[in-house]
Amino acid sequence: MSWATCYHGHRHWGARGAAGLMLADRGRVLLQLRAHWTHQGGTWSIPGGARERGESAVQAALREAREEVGIAADAVRVQGTHVASCGGWDYTTVLAAPIGTVRVRNLAETERHAWVPADEVLALPLHPAFSRAWLAEPSQLRDFAASA
Ligand SMILES: [Zn+2]
Repeated sequence: MSWATCYHGHRHWGARGAAGLMLADRGRVLLQLRAHWTHQGGTWSIPGGARERGESAVQAALREAREEVGIAADAVRVQGTHVASCGGWDYTTVLAAPIGTVRVRNLAETERHAWVPADEVLALPLHPAFSRAWLAEPSQLRDFAASA
């Protein structure tokens, strides 16, 4: 794993891009509080991280969700993807719904987790990239959460 430098000269985590899983259920989204020792620690975001070699964005998002909050891939139904590009570097948000009741745990880089009502997401200190995607006009993430 390593950093990438996009065409704009920013440094982004994940040489092959990154991906995260946004799970929405009955108007709430599953967010994790990132452990303080991580990049942008102490902020809330969706479970996610750098894509590995040969991994699709969906595969990466599901792997990260398993590693960080203990959600099995077969416990969710993928319903779409949203790609945010920055200077040739991509972050893919995988939009998914739980199948039945999913068990969520705090693993790896997750300090806490919460099912947050869509209209309360902005009250949390958010990871800047997640905040940008959530606040975009229009926002596929916000729309998905509200319609879940
Ligand atoms: Zn960039």
